[in-house]
Amino acid sequence: MKLILKTWFACLLTFLPPAVLSAADTLEITVVDTEGGKAMVMLTPDGESMLVDAGFPGSNDRDTKRIVAAAAELQIKQFDYILVTHYDGDHVANIASVDTRIPAKVFLDRGPLQPGGNQGGIQRNMKSYLERIGGRKRVTLKAGDEIPCKGLKVTVLTASGEVIKKPLPGAGKPNQFADSPQPDIGPQDENANCIGLLYEFGKFRMADFADLLQTQEFALMTPDNLVGTVDLFMVSHHGSFRSNNQVLVHALHPKVAIMNNGARKGGDPVTFDTLKASPGLLDLWQLHTSLSAKDKNAPADFIANTQEPCEGKAIKVSVQRNGTFTVTNMRNQFSNAPRSVKSNVLSLSVRWEEDSARVHCLLRCRQPGPSCLLSLCRS
Ligand SMILES: [Zn+2]
Repeated sequence: MKLILKTWFACLLTFLPPAVLSAADTLEITVVDTEGGKAMVMLTPDGESMLVDAGFPGSNDRDTKRIVAAAAELQIKQFDYILVTHYDGDHVANIASVDTRIPAKVFLDRGPLQPGGNQGGIQRNMKSYLERIGGRKRVTLKAGDEIPCKGLKVTVLTASGEVIKKPLPGAGKPNQFADSPQPDIGPQDENANCIGLLYEFGKFRMADFADLLQTQEFALMTPDNLVGTVDLFMVSHHGSFRSNNQVLVHALHPKVAIMNNGARKGGDPVTFDTLKASPGLLDLWQLHTSLSAKDKNAPADFIANTQEPCEGKAIKVSVQRNGTFTVTNMRNQFSNAPRSVKSNVLSLSVRWEEDSARVHCLLRCRQPGPSCLLSLCRS
């Protein structure tokens, strides 16, 4: 038995590309828990760092402490970029606090408020954000722009209510979900202006639209899918029903989705239904158990915070250039890694040939391919 186990492991390793075994050349992403806001810390192998939004202010600097801890773990002392997706309080209002602890070199946002953009204290949020930037560099992003981040291609897909006009390379096919129904999602508020981004690292593609609304999802994805498919989808708007139409989610065809919901914010049942019906989706991860979603929640191992009050545990993603990526729940270190290799594997059986001292490994896969053939593994 011991031999079989040892051989099983040796056999599994034969299916992992060399890069999977090394941690040197990875894109690191930490989805910080801000209990219903957004904050994401990123570090490229070139040492370039970015903070996307900064959660809520107050609560004894709760979100600042969590972001600072996530940055410290990646040994980030200064952010090359702080990107503000939009000016709602759960995204921008804590930027000043984080910036006092980890100052940023460059600030990225969508520029001035749209006419009438005054809901929910947005002008106040913006004023304190601009005061904090002071004389430092601030860049306005619009749809179609690229962020000059070393070692990572970041394309702006949406901003200020606008979407890219031309398909990305390799994209532009008719969207088979274009006729999806559009529910009533309420007013076109600040969320409609969100900066939506496509991150590309080698073969890996990740889409993150912050809190973008379904109206803009239809503009981007119909009649043609201007984005193509992605490996990882950061679920929009904390899992709100006002976003995440299947016209976007299903057409993006993600392997994995991560929802930055709070226990009582976002995580709407209909969003779980859409995600679970998404063709090709293997895993859904959540920052919190959604109280409204009840039994639609993912299994506990895929949820970073299962209790109230919570410990503010994060979800981490480590990405290889070959497109494989590992998602880890920082509450219990549960991990499903490495996704794009192992995700295709349904089962692995090992057969030991006593007389020839050979071990056969047989992989059964969802989709046949060169890595799914009968393989000979020597002990
Ligand atoms: Zn939000």
